[in-house]
Amino acid sequence: MRILITEDEKDLAEALAIGLRQQGYAADIAYDGEEALVMAEVNDYDLIILDLNLPKIDGVEVCRRIRASGSPVGILMLTALSRLDDRVDGLDQGADDYMVKPFHFPELLARVRAILRREGEPRHPILRSGDLVLDPNAVKGGTSGARR
Ligand code: CA
Repeated sequence: MRILITEDEKDLAEALAIGLRQQGYAADIAYDGEEALVMAEVNDYDLIILDLNLPKIDGVEVCRRIRASGSPVGILMLTALSRLDDRVDGLDQGADDYMVKPFHFPELLARVRAILRREGEPRHPILRSGDLVLDPNAVKGGTSGARR
């Protein structure tokens, strides 16, 4: 499993990378939004940890562009308490989950595992005919409730 950490606070980014590697994940770091988009395009990540407050390109916009490119990669947003309202934008733009900083590392690991589990579930293509859209992924019952 390969994870991209996008965080401009170097100490936090490096601590996350070390912690994730100890859990057996491959972890790369991008220090701004532009770098994150380039790395996400070049490499095949299973999950992107995405801070909202980033230099150059904001986390919400990074999320929007990644989804606009058609990527199904898991996205876990990190947000400062002062930007809590932005989590809604982030989720609207296709983030899978969010955490408010400061957080406890074991909780981050649990959320990472939860997103990777969801990703591991087979996805079915969305069927379209004219105006009719059938999304077989939307009718799975139990798991949809876990999404926030
Ligand atoms: Ca930041």
